[in-house]
Amino acid sequence: MDHRSALADFATRHRRLFVLTGAGCSTESGIPDYRDVNGGWKRPAPVNYQAFMGEDATRRRYWARSLIGWPTMGRAQPGEAHRALARLEAAGRVEQLLTQNVDGLHDAAGSRRLIDLHGRIDTVRCMGCETRSPRAALQAELLRRNPDWAALEARAAPDGDADLDGRDFSTFDVPACPHCGGLLKPDVVFFGESVPRERVAAAHAALAAADAVLVAGSSLMVYSGFRFVQAAVAAGKPVAAVNLGRTRADELLALKVERPVGEALAELSVQLEAAPA
Ligand SMILES: [Zn+2]
Repeated sequence: MDHRSALADFATRHRRLFVLTGAGCSTESGIPDYRDVNGGWKRPAPVNYQAFMGEDATRRRYWARSLIGWPTMGRAQPGEAHRALARLEAAGRVEQLLTQNVDGLHDAAGSRRLIDLHGRIDTVRCMGCETRSPRAALQAELLRRNPDWAALEARAAPDGDADLDGRDFSTFDVPACPHCGGLLKPDVVFFGESVPRERVAAAHAALAAADAVLVAGSSLMVYSGFRFVQAAVAAGKPVAAVNLGRTRADELLALKVERPVGEALAELSVQLEAAPA
C-alpha cells in the first residue's frame, strides 16, 4: 500500500479526526516557516513574552518589524491545505481543527470547528483593558507616526525582517491603547507565555471525542502542540502525520506521510469524497 491509499485508509477507519496543523500548511501562502526540516531554527526565535512586556526597546523593535512584515501577512490567501481541510470538515470528517498558526487562513478558507491555539495575528489586544482591535487599524496608526518606516514598508521583501538588521529602533513611535493608555500586544501567544487555560481545555475535550489525530504540516517542536499528540497516544488514539521532514512525534506515529501537505490533503479530500464512509 502506498502513502496515498494509506492516508485515505487511516481517515476511513477513523472517521472523526482531530486535526493539528502548523506552519507547513501556510508556507505555500507565502508565510515563512521558522523551522527547517530538522526542526531547528532557520532564523532568530520570535520575541519572548517577558521581554515584550518588560522592555520598551523590545516593543519598539517588535512593532517596527511587524510594520514591515504585516503587508505580507495581511495579504496572504488560503492555500491548498487550508481549502482541503475546509472540505474535509464540510464532509463531516473533522471533529476539531486545532492550529498552531496565527495567520487566520483556516478561518478564511471556511473551517468553523477551529481553535486558534496560539491566537490571531490580525487582532491587537490591550493588556490594560482587554479591548481587541483589528491589526490593520494599528498599521495605519504605525505608518502615520513613523513616516520614515513607511517608505521602507513600501519596498520590503516578503520576508521583511531581513531589511531591518542593524537599524536603530530607538525612535520608533509605538501608540498606547486609545481607551486606557495600556500596552498593546498582538493577540498571539508569545514564546514564554501560556496558552489560555480554557482554550487548552476545549481542545482536550474535542480530542476526547475524536477517533484519531492527523498532524498536518507541523514538526511539533513547540510543546503546546506536541502535548496533544502525547495525550492522544496515552488515550490509545492513533496519530498520523503529513509533514516534510522529521517531527518530534515520529516514534509515536501510526502513519507518517512525507509529502507536501497541500498536495496530500487535497488528494485525501478527493479520495474520501469518492468513497464516503
Ligand atoms: Zn486599553
